[in-house]
Amino acid sequence: MKEGKLITAMSSNREVRIYIAETTELVESARETHDLSPMSTAALGRTLTAAAIMGMMSKMDEERITLQIKGSGEIKLMIAIADTHGHVKAYSSNPLAPTLTRPDGKLAVGEAVGAQGGSVIVIRDYGMGTPFIGQSELVSGEIAEDIAHYFAKSEQQPTAVALGVLVTKEKPVAAAGGFIVQVLPDASDETIDQLEINLNGLKSVTELFSEGLTIHDIGRRVLGDLGMDELEQYPLSYQCDCSQEKMESALISLGKESIREIIDEDGEAEMSCHFCNQTYHFDREALERFYNRAV
Ligand SMILES: [Zn+2]
Repeated sequence: MKEGKLITAMSSNREVRIYIAETTELVESARETHDLSPMSTAALGRTLTAAAIMGMMSKMDEERITLQIKGSGEIKLMIAIADTHGHVKAYSSNPLAPTLTRPDGKLAVGEAVGAQGGSVIVIRDYGMGTPFIGQSELVSGEIAEDIAHYFAKSEQQPTAVALGVLVTKEKPVAAAGGFIVQVLPDASDETIDQLEINLNGLKSVTELFSEGLTIHDIGRRVLGDLGMDELEQYPLSYQCDCSQEKMESALISLGKESIREIIDEDGEAEMSCHFCNQTYHFDREALERFYNRAV
């Protein structure tokens, strides 16, 4: 299986926490699955990297996190779903967004997403009860800034986020990854100032990857003189959890009336998963069975 990697670390004084992910193979899986254009690869790759990290930041075992980026540009909607075991899957409403470039030659993800009137929506599902839903507006559509703004605004947690997907002529996904760094509530002003200096002097994640730095190196660069104590390392993978049973439940939840319509009009149903494109076929006999179970 194609895998990525996430490490967690803290500054030596235990006042800063950082999560750093390498997601090259995961982004490549998303690109292959959805046949993404370079522009859509960059945008969805950043989104799925953020979701993968946010899933692993959660402490609750059952939690599943859904990250939605809604914009007003070429890419209207991106959804990435991650769990606490490092599984992530993603969907883009526009797999073939055309290439837009910034004056510096980099892919203009913000323009493709379109921040105007857009939003970040985070759904934390604890596997029981009502899920927590947080929302904030898009700041730039570049994803990293938008997620940082989300943490500050919706979860009152000052956070720095960096995400990057390196797309080259030779390799559609040459490198991908990112980090989320948070200062703990009791952090001193000196620590906060030092971290800010480190972050301001830091090159983009894609530049650091293209220089050959590993996520361990990047962590050490971000924390600098604050020192880095590595805590844990986890595998990440692009994986869909759809199944015949889940598709059945989805069909049944449509209700008797809608199922009858499908039977009368088509006599069968075909459903495909938005995240992995797997298709599920249901014949008349199966639909009649669902009809009897539906309300
Ligand atoms: Zn699926």
